[in-house]
Amino acid sequence: MAASEFDIIRRWFTPAGPGRDDVITGVGDDAALLAVPPGYELAVCMDTLVAGVHFPNNTVPGAIGHKALAVNLSDLAAMGAEPAWVTLSLTRPDTDPDWLEQFSRGFFELADHYHVQLVGGDITRGPLSVTAQAHGFVPTGKALRRHGARPGDLVCVTGTLGDAGLALQLGLSGDAPLRRQLDYPAPRIEAGIALRNHASAVIDISDGLLADLGHLLEADGLGASIQVDDLPRSADFRAALETSGQGGDALACDLPLGAGDDYELCFCIADPHWPVMEAALASIPCAVTRIGVIMEEPGIRCYREDGRPYTPTITGYRHFTGAD
Ligand code: ADP
Ligand code: MG
Repeated sequence: MAASEFDIIRRWFTPAGPGRDDVITGVGDDAALLAVPPGYELAVCMDTLVAGVHFPNNTVPGAIGHKALAVNLSDLAAMGAEPAWVTLSLTRPDTDPDWLEQFSRGFFELADHYHVQLVGGDITRGPLSVTAQAHGFVPTGKALRRHGARPGDLVCVTGTLGDAGLALQLGLSGDAPLRRQLDYPAPRIEAGIALRNHASAVIDISDGLLADLGHLLEADGLGASIQVDDLPRSADFRAALETSGQGGDALACDLPLGAGDDYELCFCIADPHWPVMEAALASIPCAVTRIGVIMEEPGIRCYREDGRPYTPTITGYRHFTGAD
């Protein structure tokens, strides 16, 4: 007989172990009861992953579990928040135990890594879709925001750009290193916390650098110049592009600029603060690269290393076009 929703919650979505001290009541009552520590503000975000839209239909269940949480932790990272709690709404066409086992394992591996407790959720029948809502703490007044950049600030990014976009472009599956970047994005929690006292503005890159940097710039009516040849690309990205025989230079520029799903942080910092911030970021598990400068004039202008302007062909993922 198929498992009931209560069996599913008990077996796959009730966290093991003692749990966090700030969870008064977690999974099992009509609502969770949670205590925000004094001196902190609560950062709350929610993201939905729809099969075939936010992940390819051939994505393994463990990756869907990981990604459902990771995309939310990425939003908390962009606020400089330390993650604490998560709720999870799962819509599935069936109660396949193998799927649920792998999904919950992927979800809890990441949750446990960041000491995030699942405190509630919902389960419904329908086409596969996963929504998670994450909650994190940030010291009062210290949250990182999209606004606050100033002309002359350096524009920087964590990690590398374009890996997930190239995995999609090449239709890579399974254990290809670039496909792992698409399936198992690493939320930049440590970087977000380290940036708290240094960055003037921060956003996470989910829809592509140009699109998300564009949101950051709109917040202050500013612009930016970006050095395309300085965009950080991974060794796997370069190798896969070379062996694919596809597009070469155009893709090497356009994917890091325009493709989504990287979940890196893009942040701004006043030039004189750079050395102090570099020291603050020395202990975090990813590289940080300067890619451009904030300008007074609105809009993003891209340049090659010889100074020529560069016009990208893709500018970022949009869920709805103007015609919708
Ligand atoms: P109700 O019918 O009152 O909405 P549910 O039967 O949906 O309650 O849920 C019972 C308990 O299980 C609640 O505490 C709810 O938060 C939790 N829960 C339901 N689905 C999930 C899930 N996918 N992950 C974690 N907790 C869940
Ligand atoms: Mg109830």
